[in-house]
Amino acid sequence: MASCPKGQKRNESEDGQGAQGDDSSIHRQKDMEAGNSGPTINSLNWLGMRFELIHGIVRRARESGLVEVQVQDLREFTKDRHRTVDDRPFGGGEGMVLKPEPLFEAVESLLGHDVGDATKKNEVDSKTAIVLMSAAGKLFNQETARKFAQLERIIFICGRYEGVDERVAEHLATDEISIGDFVLSGGELPAMMIVDAVTRLLPGALGNEASSQNESFSARGDLGTDPGHQAEMTGHQILDFPHYTRPAEYRGWCVPEVLIGGNHAGVAKWRRFAALEKTRRNRPDLLLRE
Ligand code: SAH
Repeated sequence: MASCPKGQKRNESEDGQGAQGDDSSIHRQKDMEAGNSGPTINSLNWLGMRFELIHGIVRRARESGLVEVQVQDLREFTKDRHRTVDDRPFGGGEGMVLKPEPLFEAVESLLGHDVGDATKKNEVDSKTAIVLMSAAGKLFNQETARKFAQLERIIFICGRYEGVDERVAEHLATDEISIGDFVLSGGELPAMMIVDAVTRLLPGALGNEASSQNESFSARGDLGTDPGHQAEMTGHQILDFPHYTRPAEYRGWCVPEVLIGGNHAGVAKWRRFAALEKTRRNRPDLLLRE
């Protein structure tokens, strides 16, 4: 066992602060039938944002066994009488920090093996991601969603208050992920966003298979038809093209005429151009990326 300088080994909570106030019980989605083709998702939460809030595609995917979502109350993995999951920060300062022990133990119980310690680390299966939600993490994007959709299990660690003991990011999580350059008060909503983005990529989740292939942030190699931008555009990620539906004229605003005539080549050309135009206007950074 590695040893820490004296006085830094433990910081036992004396007052059990912070463990009160939430009477939510442990929620487990009952076991889905074997053979689901998508990942099992575990969300380690404290104070409960509930995944039941997810509607539509994710709900249907859960019901059909495409994805299994389980939410676990972190306090189940505490050992003290107050079921303490947080403690004061070393070095002083405001706020509380989620303790490492319940998080390590919760993840280990889900994995079915221990992840080791400072002397020996036990690797996690490459089909599993342990995702720490963190404003200081790497930015989530569609590429990460696609990567996660290939996995068999995703375990989300949802922080609260000042965040999570850094040893979780360093030695437990396989990914530390932020959903944007802003700070929320908990990791549950970010985790739910990722569950939504990943689930809709699972084969069969959307009904229409084509619809997740042809939308914003899918790489498109066919943009070279835009005169003058051939080399620049090829393979870049761009935004979706604008969509219109009836009525063809609304308050004097008309749908682009080419979309109405039934000229498929014309429609395809217009859409490529409009998507590019919109990307230039709203997200020029996408076009500058390697
Ligand atoms: N002190 C931290 C913020 C903590 S917010 C900082 O300044 O970086 C509390 C928790 O909310 C975090 O632990 C994380 O789980 C979640 N959270 C907040 N903003 C987030 C974001 N942009 N992306 C992902 N998770 C976020």
